[in-house]
Amino acid sequence: MTRRRWIAEHWDEATATITGAQAEHLARVLRAQPGMEADVVAGGHVFHAEVAAAAPGEIRFNLIAEVEADPALPVTIVMSIFKFDRMEWAIEKATELGVAAVAPVIARRTEKHLALAAEKRAERWRRIAHEAAQQARRSDVPLIHAPAPLAERVRAASMATGLASGSRFIVLAEQERTTTLRLALEEVIAGAQADMPTLEIAIGPEGGWAADEEALFDANGWRAASLGPRILRAETAAIAALAVVASCLE
Ligand code: SAH
Repeated sequence: MTRRRWIAEHWDEATATITGAQAEHLARVLRAQPGMEADVVAGGHVFHAEVAAAAPGEIRFNLIAEVEADPALPVTIVMSIFKFDRMEWAIEKATELGVAAVAPVIARRTEKHLALAAEKRAERWRRIAHEAAQQARRSDVPLIHAPAPLAERVRAASMATGLASGSRFIVLAEQERTTTLRLALEEVIAGAQADMPTLEIAIGPEGGWAADEEALFDANGWRAASLGPRILRAETAAIAALAVVASCLE
């Protein structure tokens, strides 16, 4: 039988605790008792664990043995902020597909009121990622970065590694006709020695990229790639891109 998996907020070498709504659920609905077994994720590692003490506000586990865990896909999705309901869906599905991180960015065509509300929304995005990670039995929770202007992210990303590995930065653009995402990935894989670098894949807002943003990507060594001849909604593009990455890497 597969054991339930819980992602702990606090841990040390031998124990881990979960608190808040998760602990309530575990105590009241699942009637956690000392001795009950579970898988507990602590600090990115998965452990076979046993409930040591159960109270409605806090469940403490003894960690028994580490279990081998699947790593996340080495991808950060740079997601232009778009309508929140669709964006939440995209974050949930991207988490299921194994995304390592999501960096929400304010693009030229991100609607103003969404850009203003984004910072407050980030906490909710983190909760969605946490729940989806647990449901998908991941061993980690994707990092949801604080929303930032697109230019900041684009420059920071390419400065961190220099131009040589510029090709690991990919911007999805429906105008691109020759380079498919698959081809761009095959080139990154061929160029990587032993370790696959973390990819950054940028997705535009509903209105698409503005011309100055295309120029910005270009100047910072980002490679434009296509997901095919049809125009996808931003959230579809995010999911399709991750599926392509998974099929190339897993
Ligand atoms: N400007 C477009 C819509 C943009 S779709 C329009 O004509 O209405 C939103 C984002 O999804 C784009 O900026 C791009 O990053 C991505 N996208 C959508 N379809 C794509 C495709 N076929 N190939 C690559 N990226 C795509």
